[in-house]
Amino acid sequence: MNIGVEKPMINLHPHPSHIAQVIRDIADAYTWTSFTFLYESGEFLPILNELMDLYKLGGPFITVRRYDLQLNGNYRAVLRRVRKSDDSNVVIVGSTQSLPEVLKQAKQVGIITEDYNYIIANLDLQTIDLEDFRHSEANITSFRLFSPDQPEVKKLIQELGYPEDDNERNITCPITTEMALLYDAVQLYAETTKTISFRTIPLNCSDASVWDKGETFGNYMALSVKEGLTGNIFFEAGIRTDYTFEIVELTSAGLNKVGTWHTENGLTTSRTMPSSDVVSTGELSLANKTFTVLLALNAPHAMLKQSTVKLSGNSRYEGFGVDLIKELAEKLGFNFTFNIHVDDNYGFYDTITNVSTGMVHEIMEGRADLGVTDLTITSERESGVDFTIPFMNLGISILYQKPRKDPPKLFSFMDPFSGEVWVYLGLAYFGVSLSLFILGRLAPPEWDNPFPCIEDPTELDNQLSLGNSLWFSTGSLLQQGSEIAPKALSTRVLASFFWLFTTIVVASYTANLAACLTLESPTSLINDVKDLADRKGGVNYGAKSKGSTRNFFKNSEDPNYIKMNEYMIAHPEQLTSTNEQGVEKVLGGNYAYLMESTSIEYNVARICNLTQIGRLLDEKSYGIAMRKNWPYRDKINDALLELQESGVLSKMKNKWWNEVGTGGCTTKSEQSEAAKLGMPNLGGVYFVLLVGSLIAAACGIIDWLFFVFRKARHYQVPFKDALKEEFKIVVDFENNTKIVRSTGSIYSRNSFSTIEANDSEESSEH
Ligand code: GLU
Repeated sequence: MNIGVEKPMINLHPHPSHIAQVIRDIADAYTWTSFTFLYESGEFLPILNELMDLYKLGGPFITVRRYDLQLNGNYRAVLRRVRKSDDSNVVIVGSTQSLPEVLKQAKQVGIITEDYNYIIANLDLQTIDLEDFRHSEANITSFRLFSPDQPEVKKLIQELGYPEDDNERNITCPITTEMALLYDAVQLYAETTKTISFRTIPLNCSDASVWDKGETFGNYMALSVKEGLTGNIFFEAGIRTDYTFEIVELTSAGLNKVGTWHTENGLTTSRTMPSSDVVSTGELSLANKTFTVLLALNAPHAMLKQSTVKLSGNSRYEGFGVDLIKELAEKLGFNFTFNIHVDDNYGFYDTITNVSTGMVHEIMEGRADLGVTDLTITSERESGVDFTIPFMNLGISILYQKPRKDPPKLFSFMDPFSGEVWVYLGLAYFGVSLSLFILGRLAPPEWDNPFPCIEDPTELDNQLSLGNSLWFSTGSLLQQGSEIAPKALSTRVLASFFWLFTTIVVASYTANLAACLTLESPTSLINDVKDLADRKGGVNYGAKSKGSTRNFFKNSEDPNYIKMNEYMIAHPEQLTSTNEQGVEKVLGGNYAYLMESTSIEYNVARICNLTQIGRLLDEKSYGIAMRKNWPYRDKINDALLELQESGVLSKMKNKWWNEVGTGGCTTKSEQSEAAKLGMPNLGGVYFVLLVGSLIAAACGIIDWLFFVFRKARHYQVPFKDALKEEFKIVVDFENNTKIVRSTGSIYSRNSFSTIEANDSEESSEH
């Protein structure tokens, strides 16, 4: 674009001094006290020169910076310098060729925001796709020679076959200033030829010969006044004058005319130009703004969508983070473009060296507005970027292979009951046998005539000898029965309760044995983080090499974690770049992976031979990262809080963790081990047995005392003597035979026989 550096005879292009004047007038209207003059190359320096002349010694403080087209299209360094300077007013003077890239990169480094004001001294802004900047809220002002709404321009657009409104490319006019000027020049030439005519002669391009009538023709041209596409065409000393620039401002609806600038009358605006020094206090709205959202691919936060058809744009991605942004966008009305962060490093920020990496770096550099993935909120990152309120809580834990089952043990039949139950079972067995033996001795019906054909026996036998009592208990316990059948009330009560007891105990044993045999207790080499630190079982371990988990161990002061950090420093081969690599290593065996609990949960639900070992080592959260002091942070936080309170976040978590692509692995711990039955389970049965034994004892004693009382009355002897005599017989444990006929007693034992015999007969009839 020739902007008229050399002085030609006539030049249709506005003179640099006019461009400088427009810049000055707009800057003054904005009350700029300083600005950065960002120019493309030496070709544009005359404008700066004119500007300096206009301001003389007064005027705003101007910082001059050059962005060079020679730098392979990378202007970020100079744009970053603009950002680092305190100047938020920028005048960009450059070619239409470089302008889109400059604006794009300015957006990437974060200087196309509402904090910045621009005057773009390029007459072709309407020919550039401004879609990405329309919602930036940056105050972008420019000027142009003609409006796409002019009827002549519209006609020309039509004649040239352009669509009237190039919506697809988001430009308002396909006609460039150069085209319009050329059009006007041709028209002017044609007009001039109408006035005068010269005979033209052929010229040789390779020599210096000129058309001798050229100067005269030029003078004629300069004198003709014409209304062209670019306005009034009028020259003074070869410089175009008496024409108007349209002042335009970029809004979310596109370029909007806000005033005019005339070579004579200067700037006239249709509204008050906002002063750059006045900070808008209005409600910041995200509606219709477009943000770049950086995603790091890590399931289930962000994943590439599987599809049979070719996907494009945002629809290529799915996951929790993707849904989260969609929900926020729906609530707040903003648009977004997903970009993928290819580095596995989510990023850190070193406050001392001011060096940032990963996603954090991208956001700090302004190349993304938001960063979403399993990005942990850490204090270190917070000094470089801001985070939203946490949207998910987690902690570090251990991912390990599910413990393998033990080989069956020789005495695994003992497993259904705890040791305590077995001990009490033994005590119950002996206790009942002994009780039966004693009650048998007390109970007259248990004393039997050993020779049933002898009607008047001399001695009586007790079937419940100690051996028989033990045999009876054994038979009952093993549910096999025995030929011994208690006859007295007391012994029968005791036997009944013991049978009830054995029925329940045996049923419980059988039921639990089945469970114990099918689900043998699994064993794991490691049970907690201490086992890892102690290298129990020689298990190797590691974490994601560039992540907050690794950093936790680097910064911890716990002796176990210090030990683990030293191990990880000494064994870098155990660290991984991604979580997936960690999972693969765990599946390879003899390796435990220190991972965030949410990721463990996700993998354990899908890979059934993985499990989480031990508790959480810390507590932290994920958040969405954004530029420091990003003005929309509060709005995003409010929306996030609403999503949390309405249960949308937990629903989304459930969807991506437990519904999409789960393998149906069960994580219930009781499935892995059958519990032994202990006293808490069986205590009640023991209690019932004890109560039954006491009832039986009471029956036995009452029965016995009643028998002694009857005997004493029958034989007219004192109750005490009879009791003494009977007691001796009962405690004569060695003797299981009762002598019926005896003369050694204070009263004839003979006399007892009738009653005893009668008693035993009576009871056998029962
Ligand atoms: N969430 C971690 C981070 O933000 C990555 C995974 C990890 O370190 O375990 O760095």
